[in-house]
Amino acid sequence: MQALKNKIIEEGNVLSNSVLKVDSFLNHQIDAELMQQVGEEFSERFKDAGITKILTLESSGIAPSVMTSLKLGVPTVFARKRKSLTLIDNLYTAKVHSFTKQETNEISISQKFITAEDTVLIIDDFLANGQAALGLMDIVEQAGASLAGFGIVIEKGFQTGGKELRERGIRVESLAIIESLENEKVTFKEEK
Ligand code: 5GP
Repeated sequence: MQALKNKIIEEGNVLSNSVLKVDSFLNHQIDAELMQQVGEEFSERFKDAGITKILTLESSGIAPSVMTSLKLGVPTVFARKRKSLTLIDNLYTAKVHSFTKQETNEISISQKFITAEDTVLIIDDFLANGQAALGLMDIVEQAGASLAGFGIVIEKGFQTGGKELRERGIRVESLAIIESLENEKVTFKEEK
């Protein structure tokens, strides 16, 4: 998606050979217009997949998910990373090791929001080693729901998550795939 790639080039900060900071439009401040375009792109790609729910992880997955929800006319459910006084019983939980925070969180969602009747699109801001993706997939499996695939805003193609998911036959649609962050420069994978 060209508008997203332009934004990454203009405003992304390469923190190391493996970490990209995009807090001016995705991870802290949110560019609503760009997120709307992201939502339109995901909904276009998945419009024939019979999606009934979008599943994401708080907090950075919520904006692109809600924009996609608006277009597809289905709700977004976000997994919580922290325990909550109001989220106690009848949960699906999974463990996720965070690439950026280097800590393991137990993520949870209420069982009432995803059921065996659902066809789920999982959306996230980044795909790196795939830990978040596996945790969310685990929750979809526990619910007995069908997985339509993944919508990823930024995939770091030099890490293993995308490859592993695709090798398992899972559909992964990434709007920008980064090939390298070496020499403080963002290089995108060429689109076929
Ligand atoms: P994974 O679980 O695939 O290893 O990492 C994905 C999660 O880690 C995403 O939900 C995202 O929050 C975070 N993440 C991974 N790599 C980056 C990165 O380069 N920049 C930012 N801002 N977040 C990242």
